[in-house]
Amino acid sequence: MLQSVDVGTKALEDYRAIVGDETIETIRALAEPLNGATVVHVNATAFGGGVAEMLPTLVPLMRDIGLDAHWQVIEGTDDFFEVTKAMHNGLQGMATPFTAEMQQIWQRYNELNAEKFEGRYDFVIVHDPQPAGLLRYTAGKNGRHWIWRCHIDTSAPSPDYWGFLARYIDEYPAAVFTMEQYVGPGVDFKHLALIAPTIDPLPPKNAAMNAATADASGRDYGRDDGGPLPGQARRSDPWKDPLGVIDAYRIVKERIPGVQLALVGSMASDDPEGWDYYDKTVRHAGEDYDIRILHNFQGVGGREVNAFQTAADVVIQKSIREGFGLTVTEAMWKRKPVIGGDVGGIPLQIIDGETGFLVGSVEECADKVLHLLEHPIEADRMGQAGREHIRNHFLSTHHLADYLRLFNQLLAKS
Ligand code: UDP
Repeated sequence: MLQSVDVGTKALEDYRAIVGDETIETIRALAEPLNGATVVHVNATAFGGGVAEMLPTLVPLMRDIGLDAHWQVIEGTDDFFEVTKAMHNGLQGMATPFTAEMQQIWQRYNELNAEKFEGRYDFVIVHDPQPAGLLRYTAGKNGRHWIWRCHIDTSAPSPDYWGFLARYIDEYPAAVFTMEQYVGPGVDFKHLALIAPTIDPLPPKNAAMNAATADASGRDYGRDDGGPLPGQARRSDPWKDPLGVIDAYRIVKERIPGVQLALVGSMASDDPEGWDYYDKTVRHAGEDYDIRILHNFQGVGGREVNAFQTAADVVIQKSIREGFGLTVTEAMWKRKPVIGGDVGGIPLQIIDGETGFLVGSVEECADKVLHLLEHPIEADRMGQAGREHIRNHFLSTHHLADYLRLFNQLLAKS
């Protein structure tokens, strides 16, 4: 049996005050024809990164509105996750080798997981490349409708990796991408849906926190209240460019010596490169103790991420590739102006000049940080506009409605 992830309960009604009556009624209407439908989400990790962030909300909300929803994770050893991390890098465009041995490791673990996959569901949603071979190796026996959900930016993939993966994902009758340009060559899904990731406004990570609580939490982790704080919360990964963020901070520090930087990072269980990149980041920061580099093994969980995002004057997510960037969504929801890399799903969220700034270089990033620190009224206005943009497009209720629409469309086609 694949390992099942326990998700607890959630109630759609609890979101009414935040998203309004119309959204709740739309969801109830979409759910009606799906009453009792069985759904399973399969991914590679129960902890770390955007997918593991969203399923603990989506799965219980699906249950609350009458679907029989589940979440299972595949198994793998370090060598499998080293291969899948290389795949993640290759699919995001890094020129990295993909040997026959690596391909065999991926295939072998997908076969093993396919053998362990039990039950039969109306909808099987396979997230990301790690378990993408499940459809082929189960011969589809576990599901009536198979959906492959891609969360990464595959707009300019290394051809070796995309070519390999395309043979597997092309067998899925339906696929979900965050943006149309992520669908690479050689695949032709019968049904393609574009669905953006979202955040849950209710758990401790995103619930309203007052400034005093946020400051107190920051002090626990060595921050002093004196200087302004740009912050970044992310997985420890080169695509998130924490080294570039440090370089931008150094430029800002020449003009505002009291500035501090918080880099809050998490290690995903399916990401073996995380610690290497953490080491590189610490070395790059050197002896500058105004840079705080924290991670989940120091007790930095959802509440602490919230505290740093709330205490920050500006939030930076200067990624080089980014499937979507939930950290951007989270910070905007906390009324922060966000400076983000002009890549992947970040421009879906940051309206340049209105809710933050899109940047393409370290210098530009530093420029915009300085601008926002020196123009607090404009920064506040952008933060407010950002919150409304997230409320209108990127909360879990949108995600739920999008999945329900997709399920209804697939049922209508079959
Ligand atoms: N995150 C966290 N603790 C940290 C740093 C990040 O819980 O110390 C969370 C962050 O709040 C976000 C998720 O990890 O919800 C990262 O998702 P994102 O879409 O930004 O990137 P991904 O890791 O999926 O590439």
